[in-house]
Amino acid sequence: MSIQLFTPTFAVDECLEEIRECLEKGWTGMGFKTVQFEDAWKKYTGMPHAHYLNSATAGLELAFAVLKQENGWEDGDEVVTTPLTFVSSNHAILFADLKPVFADVDDTNCLDPESVRSRITPKTRAVLFVGFGGNCGHYEEIVKICKENGLALVLDAAHMAGTRLNGEIPGKEADAVVYSFQAVKNLPTADSGMICFKSAKHDEIVRKMAWLGINKDTYARTNSMGNYKWKYDVEYVGHKDHGNSIMASIGLVQLRYLDRDNAYRRQLARWYTEGFRPYPDKIRLIHIPENCESSCHLFQIIVEDRDGLMDALHAVDVYPGVHYVENTQYRMYAYAAGTCPNATYISDHILSLPMHMRLTHEDVQLIIDTVVKYVTK
Ligand SMILES: *Cc1c(COP(=O)(O)O)cnc(C)c1O
Repeated sequence: MSIQLFTPTFAVDECLEEIRECLEKGWTGMGFKTVQFEDAWKKYTGMPHAHYLNSATAGLELAFAVLKQENGWEDGDEVVTTPLTFVSSNHAILFADLKPVFADVDDTNCLDPESVRSRITPKTRAVLFVGFGGNCGHYEEIVKICKENGLALVLDAAHMAGTRLNGEIPGKEADAVVYSFQAVKNLPTADSGMICFKSAKHDEIVRKMAWLGINKDTYARTNSMGNYKWKYDVEYVGHKDHGNSIMASIGLVQLRYLDRDNAYRRQLARWYTEGFRPYPDKIRLIHIPENCESSCHLFQIIVEDRDGLMDALHAVDVYPGVHYVENTQYRMYAYAAGTCPNATYISDHILSLPMHMRLTHEDVQLIIDTVVKYVTK
């Protein structure tokens, strides 16, 4: 049997039970389960606000759209960001007509605070921090830098569902935190995401913007019978970004198992780490600071001959992945090529090993043996 990078596992009967409720009630769209999931997520994370969306990509775009509008940022204002991420993070900055300015990463694969400081100019308005692979990296330092320089902070927490920092879900300091519940993330649905704004006003705005700018409260509030549902106002030009009750049904169920699943991911990570620890010269591991309990979305190693190792793993039916090609190697972001040497090195040498609930100790051992044999040959 082949071993894939990600194979999501669902509590199938429980998911179907929640979905059945939607179908029987005749309510599959926004509302009903989406509201339940928002409430459950607020309770789990301790975030003051949460709006359920159809993806994290939509969430990141909305984060910059709302913050730009409400803070009066100008076109071309700068956001310091990481090149080591999925392109959706940086596209969100461009969609808002802001400029991604790339800072380098450190041994945590997250933004290096010193590099971030060096990129701040009079036009800098925000920092986008990606909790890479579930790692907190030096997030607390970044929070400090943002405070000192009056910058907004957006946390791309696509990998971070369940991550804790000093025993708590991180992100309460950020202006917006965006989670992904895409098919292979730690809390898989099929596609969806959540945006958690710090400010109640921003939360109120995002609920309109995520539904074409429609303000459905105007008349509904003054008429409890709901007779004037059609009499809404439209305040913004928005996209259709909100989530639906079928996805939320799966999310509600998977949330029950998130901590249990993440604990097993950490067990897998410990097995990998023990297997690779004797070879520090050949296999570099990603540093996770002591006060971070990572969701372990990814387990990654950095090796000299990544592509050769990938072939060796394919030969034993193991299919690892690469997260990510650093974004300045893409045409869109080539203006910053060469500005982040650590990210470029990592991009060329990093490998994500299989990480999911169906892996056994034997699977991990096979992968360790194959990697060790290849890098020590
Ligand atoms: C998956 C991912 C996203 C996008 O999430 P979607 O829900 O698929 O839109 C954004 N940022 C990072 C770092 C991701 O891994």
